[in-house]
Amino acid sequence: MSIQSINPANGKLLKKYSEDSSSQILNKIENTHAAWLKWHKETSVETERAILLINAAGILRKRKDELAVLMASEMGKPLKDGRTEVEKCAAVCEYYAENAKTFLKDEQIETDASKSYVSFQPLGVVLAIMPWNFPFWQLFRFLAPALMAGNCALLKHASSVSGCALAVEKILIEAGFPKHVFQVLLIGSKSVKQVIAHPLVKAVTLTGSTEAGIQVAQQAGQLLKKTVLELGGSDPYIILEDADLESAAEICAQSRLINNGQSCIAAKRFIVVKKVEKEFTRLFKAKMAEKITGDPFDPATDLGPMSRIDLRDELHEQVQQNIKAGAQCILGGLIPKFNGSHAFYTPTILTGIKKGMPAYTEELFGPVALLITAKNTNEAIKIANDTNFGLGAAVFTRDGSGGEEIARNQLNAGSCFVNTLVKSDPRLPFGGINQSGYGRELGMFGIREFVNIKTVFIK
Ligand code: NDP
Repeated sequence: MSIQSINPANGKLLKKYSEDSSSQILNKIENTHAAWLKWHKETSVETERAILLINAAGILRKRKDELAVLMASEMGKPLKDGRTEVEKCAAVCEYYAENAKTFLKDEQIETDASKSYVSFQPLGVVLAIMPWNFPFWQLFRFLAPALMAGNCALLKHASSVSGCALAVEKILIEAGFPKHVFQVLLIGSKSVKQVIAHPLVKAVTLTGSTEAGIQVAQQAGQLLKKTVLELGGSDPYIILEDADLESAAEICAQSRLINNGQSCIAAKRFIVVKKVEKEFTRLFKAKMAEKITGDPFDPATDLGPMSRIDLRDELHEQVQQNIKAGAQCILGGLIPKFNGSHAFYTPTILTGIKKGMPAYTEELFGPVALLITAKNTNEAIKIANDTNFGLGAAVFTRDGSGGEEIARNQLNAGSCFVNTLVKSDPRLPFGGINQSGYGRELGMFGIREFVNIKTVFIK
């Protein structure tokens, strides 16, 4: 069996990788466990682990161009965005190298003991199942804290980005990490069950679709293994009557088109109060239309192809279904006529989305914006919360404290932003509620997900 990387800009095969056999999988699990026995006992947070992670950050920066080329080839990300992604990976390594010691410090708690405290101990080998959309960032935001906490990791990356997965393995070896502390499993999703079931695999993290999250959570749950799930979203951006429309339109277009719309926290539903609907739509359409779709290797390109042809076809089908259901397509909505077999899709806007149409509840994972009209602020908030997801949300208003009240108390999501786009930051926890998953990545909360929060009590 083989796993293939295909260039989504032209449909050409880049490379075939042979899939790990059952015995190879077993070997990798055992080797990573053996590496863990030494890693957590013989290295400390403030010295070896921090030094190695800083080395990895340096190598990431040095290899930025090369890694951006890999992403452009395997999943269509424009080079400039690829470089930014690698920079962010270096930054998260540095952040945890610097802060892990504080986050993992014993916490003294006064009780009737002579001494009682909480200590944060590693769990062991953690399986990471990662997606193709940010092939380095999604991994590093898990890996940097996991390694600092004293865990080791096995990666099952999305089948389309095996080149990126193997590049990380090389970087860590070059940085000086002991062999097998981190290993790539070259496997399809069908083999994941076998890995989860292995007693030496202690926990699982998955970033990807809600469907994949449910399956992995079921398998891990049956064995009582901890999971962290970062899944899909249909983030609502509310544009209130008093919003700075020019700025809101610019930010909304930027957020909708992050990574060609293939981001869990891209803005997906734009809920616009009736009074400003016409003007916002005009400004937003102009911003969406000015983005240049093309060759990810061309510096002028804003949006490359989508990551896979099948995902683009699915997205186009969703657009067609919603038009049939009564939505109006005011921009895009067509597969562009570029040479050869490709995954391109240009920025698209559907207006008049209403309850009952598929897009009202579904996630559209690509450059398609959905505009929904609300009578007033209250109705806008009601619509924003009328979803099974709950990853991010944003509200645009000139009333700062009113915006904060909506973000803090009225919107149901893991991250709520005012007058700007939802984005991840190493210092802030990141994750969702409901069908967007559970658990948190990043910040102090992220590093404490895969630890035994151990109570120590001395009489
Ligand atoms: P998937 O969720 O299928 O893939 C994400 C990762 O999970 C990949 O490594 C995949 O492996 C693996 N996987 C999939 N199914 C299982 C399973 N049953 N057991 C174990 N591992 C599994 O995403 P797709 O690539 O199919 O994209 C489909 C949709 O997922 C998107 O349209 C979007 O809605 C959502 N998505 C969300 C992301 C996010 O950032 N939250 C990122 C990517 C996708 P393999 O590649 O081998 O199938």
